[in-house]
Amino acid sequence: MRCPLCGHEDSKVLDSRPMLEGRSIRRRRECLGCSRRFTTYERADPSPLMVVKRDGRREPFDRSKVLGGVIRACGKRPVSVEAMDALVEEVEREVRQPGSPEVATATIGDLVMERLRRLDDVAYVRFASEYRRFRDVDSIAEEIETLKERKRRENALRDQVPLISLTDSQIAR
Ligand SMILES: [Zn+2]
Repeated sequence: MRCPLCGHEDSKVLDSRPMLEGRSIRRRRECLGCSRRFTTYERADPSPLMVVKRDGRREPFDRSKVLGGVIRACGKRPVSVEAMDALVEEVEREVRQPGSPEVATATIGDLVMERLRRLDDVAYVRFASEYRRFRDVDSIAEEIETLKERKRRENALRDQVPLISLTDSQIAR
């Protein structure tokens, strides 16, 4: 390991310790040229993950593409960037399994949808309609009906509150 301070070719390792639950190793080194100390980090190269597209073409998994789709779906919705990033992180962890170097775009899409549904109704429907456009239009209609039904029930509950306060003000008069 070349010394970052003087450029000398050789250094000796003083101390090695695992970091990030063993996914990385931190080494304290001393330069054999200038005797100054520096730190290096070593981590395993993640095995390449290929995404199999609908037409059978393959491309390397690109986290930023997945995040882009989520950001588009969440446009103007009350969802923080941290929440979107955490969602993509979760999906990536899920699809990066040892021994499975390939994943279908459909699988990634399903995993994103599953999590968006919990995060924001509108973002979920946007993502689902974009993603499932070529798959099944009927199920989207069903999803929207389910959401509408849920909203109706929520509104019905909320409507009970003003009724009570109205009664209160009538009593006051
Ligand atoms: Zn040096």
